[in-house]
Amino acid sequence: MRALVKREAAPGIWMEDVPIPEIGPNDVLIKLEKTAICGTDLHIYLWDEWSRQTINPGLIIGHEFVGHIHDKGAGVRGYQIGERVSAEGHVACGVCRNCKRGKAHLCPHTEGIGVNRDGAFAEYVVVPQSNLWRIPDRVPSELAAFFDPFGNAAHCALKFDLVGEDVLITGAGPIGIIAAGICRHVGARHVVVTDVNDYRLNLAKTMGSDRVVNVTRESIDDVVEELGLEGFDIGLEMSGNAQAFEDMLEHMYPSGKVALLGILPPESMIDWNQIIFKGLEVHGIYGRLMYETWYKMTQMVLGGFPLHEALTHQIPIDDYEQGFELMRTGQCGKVVCDWY
Ligand code: NAD
Ligand code: ZN
Repeated sequence: MRALVKREAAPGIWMEDVPIPEIGPNDVLIKLEKTAICGTDLHIYLWDEWSRQTINPGLIIGHEFVGHIHDKGAGVRGYQIGERVSAEGHVACGVCRNCKRGKAHLCPHTEGIGVNRDGAFAEYVVVPQSNLWRIPDRVPSELAAFFDPFGNAAHCALKFDLVGEDVLITGAGPIGIIAAGICRHVGARHVVVTDVNDYRLNLAKTMGSDRVVNVTRESIDDVVEELGLEGFDIGLEMSGNAQAFEDMLEHMYPSGKVALLGILPPESMIDWNQIIFKGLEVHGIYGRLMYETWYKMTQMVLGGFPLHEALTHQIPIDDYEQGFELMRTGQCGKVVCDWY
């Protein structure tokens, strides 16, 4: 089969011919229809510090996908050959304390599809039955292909009650854009999104943000004044930029709540006084709930949530280099690759 393999410990990704993977008794073999490019795939492509420490060359990358069940192990129950599925990319151990108490997304022994085990930038991928998520007929495949980051956005945005609240989202990457839509969808009052990239801020606007701020030209202060606010009730940090996080803390209304999804550089400095004296609640966000977030996402799309606004490019898999280039420049929302 054809697959995108991280063959060399160097920048790049290579389309290679590799054997179709074998299934265990509780696995299914999925024939991929579409695979989306995640920021993580770009990190692996660019071979940055994180990738050098995490990735073993020879890995097939990719964890945002949709496809059809092509084969199944003898122990698989409740799924039929031919069904259209996506899957949770974290393969949890199933036996640790967190797995047992329904917090499998925080399993310390988790394995990442396309990170620690072969992934879905391939004609076929093997996934344990436990991780499958069935896609209803009414959900288009090009949207189901990026339920994974939709899940990050949903898990983060739904962490706190948003009804009537003023929300600040820092970072209009694909996840920030989708989160802006979710905040609008569930009834926030003002949804303000910051970034340094106008293309992405426009997507956030289409998705439901009522005010976007390019922080290279405008300040959050001005927007707070314009909207007649004293600060934000809810902050969703989705940029991974330390300055953005600092700006967010400074503009939170006392007793506000902050959900931290963006991965901040280790040397990031924090003004702890903002958190202490304002009594802020700060919550780390990882992955998405298995499988309550998947359920909410599916129902939101079936109920009319405009997820398609976050999808900007659909390309044949042979044009994958172009897809990675789009991701590198940031002139895109989600980029989905078609296998056929
Ligand atoms: P992304 O890199 O595409 O988006 C980040 C955005 O932040 C970019 O559009 C960038 O222009 C913007 N940005 C840069 N500097 C900024 C600033 N000063 N102010 C405001 N915005 C600024 O990433 P993504 O795929 O949308 O993911 C968002 C973040 O979440 C990333 O940091 C990613 O690593 C992280 N992430 C975390 C989890 C988790 O489980 N915690 C899962 C997926 C992604
Ligand atoms: Zn576990």
